[in-house]
Amino acid sequence: MMENYSYKYLIIGGGMTADAAARSIREIDPNGTIGLIGDDNDPPYARPPLSKALWTGDEALEDIDLETSETNLTMHLSRTVTKIDRHNKKVIDEKGIKYSYEKLLIATGGTPKKLPKVEEEGIIYYRTLSDYKNLKKLVDQNKTFGVLGGGFIGSEIAAAIKIFKPDAEVTMIFPETGIGALIFPKKLSNHLNKYYQEKNITVMVEELVTSIKKLDKGYLVETISDKKLKFDTVIAGLGITPNIKIAEEANLEVKNGILVNQYLQTNDPDIFAAGDVALYHNPSLDTYIRVEHEDNALMMGELAGQNMTGKKNSFDHLSLFYSDLFDYGYEAVGILNSNLYMVEDWIDPLEEGIVYYLKEGRIQGILLWNVWEKVEEARKLITESGPFTPEDLKGRIK
Ligand SMILES: Cc1cc2nc3c(=O)[nH]c(=O)nc-3n(C[C@H](O)[C@H](O)[C@H](O)COP(=O)(O)OP(=O)(O)OC[C@H]3O[C@@H](n4cnc5c(N)ncnc54)[C@H](O)[C@@H]3O)c2cc1C
Repeated sequence: MMENYSYKYLIIGGGMTADAAARSIREIDPNGTIGLIGDDNDPPYARPPLSKALWTGDEALEDIDLETSETNLTMHLSRTVTKIDRHNKKVIDEKGIKYSYEKLLIATGGTPKKLPKVEEEGIIYYRTLSDYKNLKKLVDQNKTFGVLGGGFIGSEIAAAIKIFKPDAEVTMIFPETGIGALIFPKKLSNHLNKYYQEKNITVMVEELVTSIKKLDKGYLVETISDKKLKFDTVIAGLGITPNIKIAEEANLEVKNGILVNQYLQTNDPDIFAAGDVALYHNPSLDTYIRVEHEDNALMMGELAGQNMTGKKNSFDHLSLFYSDLFDYGYEAVGILNSNLYMVEDWIDPLEEGIVYYLKEGRIQGILLWNVWEKVEEARKLITESGPFTPEDLKGRIK
């Protein structure tokens, strides 16, 4: 007989959002049963250290475990939900096991994008704890590393490898003109190219990888400009695709994410979605956004958990995000997109300053580049409707 399970609260996904939701449910409802189904082999852990603190030595593996079991929930790990049966309020996993729910949270996050037409095994599309463990071993053994992608993951992993193993030969390859070019002003992004080169990382800009072939040892990477590069290890950080399939097949409303209202409910009021996978209307920005950052995962998870217990709290949080690039670091709120109109307010040019991202005079996002403890001020400014001129903004956050 197939085992079946029944929970008052059921969470699909075993990431940071799931952990935050389980904790907030438990705070309000000490006895309601909570089940979590996650296809990762590991119980929920913090992802940001995978590309930072675990490499710098600031954190060890045991520090990143979120200790979700403290919430007295039942975890079903290495299990993939393949179907949500809304009619019978059950979800079904790949083995046909059924789990019934009263309230369901979809916190399925995202899956790394892969290079089109590259089938070779062993390329690390970096996201999970097992990716970290795998890469760590390869960094110990190998010398040359090709890092594809110039965004968050690519820039952090390239730095992490170099910090951990200074004699590693690290090459970054990406199609944009500079590191972080999709979010930073051009001058800052160009400055980062130089900065990474000073750290002995080869930075290949405006390069598209056209093929990767596995060799006896390592890989041959070919680019659109006919470069042929050999690496022992190839790591890719090309962004993620939100895991919306099971929601879509259950006729929940999806776009580039699972659409939720201010209470984080989908179009089925007993089904909630939160974290990287959820698309919601942010009142400060007056637009729909899907955010792929830790603070959003934690705050959305917490609020979804509360509302699963019957509360009606609105999600209006404007999340913060951060990154570390060698000795540089930043925090940011709202939308950072270098296609927006940018006002740069440098305290020390390219070393310390604030960048405002505007659309029709209204602030969409604020970058605090090596500027600390200003997140609340930045959030408050974004809630002001403006319109702002560059002169209004210069010196506004000090
Ligand atoms: C290396 C790395 C570094 C990062 N650094 C930062 C940072 O510095 N700052 C920052 O703000 N953010 C950072 N982030 C982003 C942040 O970690 C994410 O926003 C956050 O972890 C999202 O949490 P989540 O629970 O919503 O999704 P996920 O972490 O993606 O978790 C979802 C889980 O659900 C599982 N799942 C999916 N589908 C199913 C299914 N059908 N059945 C069962 N399980 C399923 C997935 O396998 C996964 O384990 C980083 C991310 C990575 C990968």
